[in-house]
Amino acid sequence: MKTAYIHANIFGQRNDAFIVENGRFYKVGKARDILKQPIDKIIDLKERTVFPGFHDAHMHLLGMGWMMEMFDAGKPKSIAALIEAARKEKGDHVLGRGFHEENFSEKRSLVKDDLNEIATDRPVLMYRTCGHLIVANQNAIDKALQLHGDYPEDASTYDLDQGFFKEDARDWITEVLGKPSIADLKRMLLAAQDKLLQEGVTAVQSDDLATTKAEYETVIDAFAELAQESRLKIRVYEQANLQTLSRLEDFLRKGFQNQNFGRFRMGPLKLLVDGSLGAHTAYLREPYADRPEEKGLLLYSEEELKTLFETTERAGMDWAVHAIGDGALETILNASESVLPHAKHSQRNAIVHAQLADRAQIERMRALNIGAMVQPIFLRSDYAIIAERLGDRQEETYLFNTMAQRTPTALSTDTPIEPSDPFKNLFTTTTRKTLLDLRKQPFLKEEAMTLENAIKAYTETSAYFARSEHELGSVKKGHRADFVVAGGFDGTPESLLKAEVEETYIDGERVFSARSFANDGSVL
Ligand SMILES: [Zn+2]
Repeated sequence: MKTAYIHANIFGQRNDAFIVENGRFYKVGKARDILKQPIDKIIDLKERTVFPGFHDAHMHLLGMGWMMEMFDAGKPKSIAALIEAARKEKGDHVLGRGFHEENFSEKRSLVKDDLNEIATDRPVLMYRTCGHLIVANQNAIDKALQLHGDYPEDASTYDLDQGFFKEDARDWITEVLGKPSIADLKRMLLAAQDKLLQEGVTAVQSDDLATTKAEYETVIDAFAELAQESRLKIRVYEQANLQTLSRLEDFLRKGFQNQNFGRFRMGPLKLLVDGSLGAHTAYLREPYADRPEEKGLLLYSEEELKTLFETTERAGMDWAVHAIGDGALETILNASESVLPHAKHSQRNAIVHAQLADRAQIERMRALNIGAMVQPIFLRSDYAIIAERLGDRQEETYLFNTMAQRTPTALSTDTPIEPSDPFKNLFTTTTRKTLLDLRKQPFLKEEAMTLENAIKAYTETSAYFARSEHELGSVKKGHRADFVVAGGFDGTPESLLKAEVEETYIDGERVFSARSFANDGSVL
């Protein structure tokens, strides 16, 4: 079965038509040549834009689906309104996500006393938008203490008066939520998938193994079952968040590395080496401008990283490591320098975020062939705090255009931390404006990518990190037919905010349709 798509405005190409057969682009060219071929069906795209399927290089599919079931703490404009809305939540606990002090008219963080006003008879937990801080009510703290018998080990990671739990202490407090079942996990994954297909995302690299209290193998089973049942439409390349050497060794012993379950494939080891700027937990070389006694949290030593990198290298696995602060990045680069030059496998490692990386560090990344998975859309929330946290060092942040010219740099959203919509992320990438206030000046405008480079970073470069660039990332003969049909886009970055995904295809199968074009076609 050959289907021809004509009157297509294929992004970055002079071609206006293509044929799909057996899930792949059979031919891409001019309509007059395409229509000379034997074809079974013609679909007229009426000059709409065709993009290669968007490929988000770092996000949390399970976290996204889980969040969709949570109370939306990002919506209320004040803490008072949040308390009133959250009181209406049903269930044996209230779990909220996405609050940010800048969004509240009170201009302060949520604290324990606010949450005690929501409920005293059941646990109430609220995640800050960065995900690195949880605020808990007294009931949750009491229950967690009952479960554990003691408070978290590291006193710097929690504050009982404020009800704050950061980094490792988050695990301590979320114990009160219990374990999701495999059916729960599958339901959340499918909910997230639906939203992404609507947004034109056809592939993701996703960090899911440590999102919930479920065992990592249960999460793998949930994905594998969905793939087996053909219900997993989106391509998932798992960034295996295994946290410790012993868990990584367990994973390797069980033979999970590089396993392929069809649309679900096992990818690199994922580690988090520091936290976030918002929570003052990103690890900096020099102290925070607004907290001269603090540098943030470093979660692995150089020696520990070295051992982990040696282990992945021996196992033929890549790594994708979270580093927001320049101190965290420096530690990773030092550890890499003693491992990577001797590597036997050709590796495709990446720094996830790389928000503070100065030009010398970017040069070291290039020399070690370490790429980056970056999120320009973070400017949406970070715009307001970068200067406060970093002072003059803000000139050395978000250097994504420089980075992309030096080393493979893929775009991503880290959703549910920020919205998953590729058009919003592309808008920020190409304009450097915060989506929360478009009148504000662009942030380091010279670090904006051209739209062409940005689309490439969202498709081909992501595919490179998933070791699939030979068949994903372009509208090109022989590649898998993963593509998006969009209306309202006129080639300018500004029009990205009005553009709408009308159809999404994976392997030539239409997996989302806002309005069917199929009826416009005729069967020959
Ligand atoms: Zn992440």
